[in-house]
Amino acid sequence: MPVNFYFNPVFKIRLDKVIAGLCEWGYKPIIVSGRRTLAEQKILLAQGKTKTLHSKHLTGKAADVVDLKMKWNAPNRFWLQMAFLVNKYGLKSGIYFGLSTVEKKQLKAKLDNAIFKTDVKIGWDPNHIEL
Ligand SMILES: [Zn+2]
Repeated sequence: MPVNFYFNPVFKIRLDKVIAGLCEWGYKPIIVSGRRTLAEQKILLAQGKTKTLHSKHLTGKAADVVDLKMKWNAPNRFWLQMAFLVNKYGLKSGIYFGLSTVEKKQLKAKLDNAIFKTDVKIGWDPNHIEL
C-alpha cells in the first residue's frame, strides 16, 4: 500500500529528529508505513503484520522506519541505535513489543547506557515508532 506521509505535527517534528540522527550515523532511513486507513489496518491484521486495529498509525502518530539497504534484515545494532534516538526525542519504540518485564528492563538498561553492540533480546516490531 502507498505510504501516507500525513503525520500529527508534534510526532512529525520528533520523527524528523530521529531520522536526522540515523543519517548522521551513516544510515539511509526510509519511512515504509505512515498513516493508515482502518481498511488498510484490517488488511495488515489479516496478514499477521500487526496485532491491533487500534494502532497509532490510524491517527498519524506512528511510522515504520527501516534502513534503505538493510530493510528488516538490519542487525540488532541498528534497531538499538534507532530505539535510542526514539527515546531521546520523546517517542516510543516497538522494540519493546512482546518482551517480558525482565527482558524490557535488560533492554532499557542497554539503551540508557547507549550500548548498541549486544545480543540483548528485542521485541517483534523494532521498526515501529509512535508518539
Ligand atoms: Zn508501525
